[in-house]
Amino acid sequence: MRAFTFEAHIPRTILGSGTISRIPDEIRRLNVERVLLITESTDRQLALSKTIGDSLGSHCAGVCADAVMHTPLEVTEKALETALQVHADSLVSIGGGSTIGLGKALAVRMNVPHVAVPTTYAGSEATPILGETVNGEKKTRSDPRILPTTIIYDIDLTLSLPLSLTFTSGINAIAHCVEALHSEQINPLIESLALQGISSLYSSLQILKDAPNNMDARGQATTGAWAAGICLGHVGMALHHKLCHTLGGTFGLPHSETHTVMLPYAMAYNAEAASCAMRSISNAIGYDGNAAKAIWELERSLGTVRSLQDLGMKKDDLVKAATLAGQSRYPNPAPLEHGKLLNLLENAFYGRPPI
Ligand code: NAD
Repeated sequence: MRAFTFEAHIPRTILGSGTISRIPDEIRRLNVERVLLITESTDRQLALSKTIGDSLGSHCAGVCADAVMHTPLEVTEKALETALQVHADSLVSIGGGSTIGLGKALAVRMNVPHVAVPTTYAGSEATPILGETVNGEKKTRSDPRILPTTIIYDIDLTLSLPLSLTFTSGINAIAHCVEALHSEQINPLIESLALQGISSLYSSLQILKDAPNNMDARGQATTGAWAAGICLGHVGMALHHKLCHTLGGTFGLPHSETHTVMLPYAMAYNAEAASCAMRSISNAIGYDGNAAKAIWELERSLGTVRSLQDLGMKKDDLVKAATLAGQSRYPNPAPLEHGKLLNLLENAFYGRPPI
């Protein structure tokens, strides 16, 4: 028996097709008057925000379309000014992890209800974690007050996701589940959720490759992303996420693509030390072999980005990245050794087989 302590932090969640029509009801339920919509400045997200704003009528206090990747502090400070100017008493964030990150950064500062409407599979909406970039360094904190009040998953919104982002975002979610499985805070509930999340995403991404509009598969991927977010929100992050935060925050690499490139290598690094977790993953997806190889092969079959070099990383920066990723102490199944971390990063740089 493995002892554990568990306290669940899961927002009220609505998942289905056409569910954005339920936003006004949720706002009424929260008993708030002035909603600030948070989004980004792309035509698609602005149009979606307009539809949602119209449905809220006089309760829509304004739109802040400033969300960008990695939640830079200066963007949050400007958005906070907007929120105060329009006397917002609540937030609705509509978009991927970047937009929801800005919603969380505002909600925790303003102490107001936050309805998150995710349009990718990043899973941020289900975690009390906020990563913010200050002076080029991404720092992460966890606080139950960061957790959105309500999540509304509308599967229809994921139909516009290009396949490349469908895959990298889905693999980002798989990464949350993988780290949960070898975390010190694992318990039977999170374990089954993580395995369920991996198996839903692993199979749905393969279906979506040939049938991007398959609603069952879109629903399965979204359910997997929800499970992944819950898992990440209840465990501490390990090597994989720390590496990705370093590569994103300090070297500006794109989030989901970086997770995709790094996941098989981080899994290979921990393969021996976390052999039980890796075996459970292989069993959950019906793969006869090492789980790191399974993810590597999945990525090859989906045709996702292959290497750090392809993402624009400079070879000269690998030593700095290995130093930063090994600097702060955090629990990880295999000990963090500079030489091994550098080797991992070099393999990922060239896109070599992880195992
Ligand atoms: P993103 O939000 O940056 O979006 C990536 C791109 O996809 C953008 O150009 C966006 O316009 C587009 N997009 C989003 N939804 C779309 C849709 N339905 N159709 C077409 N295009 C769409 O990317 P992301 O990977 O979702 O989020 C990354 C950010 O989220 C990072 O800053 C990361 O740190 C954060 N994150 C945080 C957590 C957490 O728990 N705190 C978890 C995961 C990710």
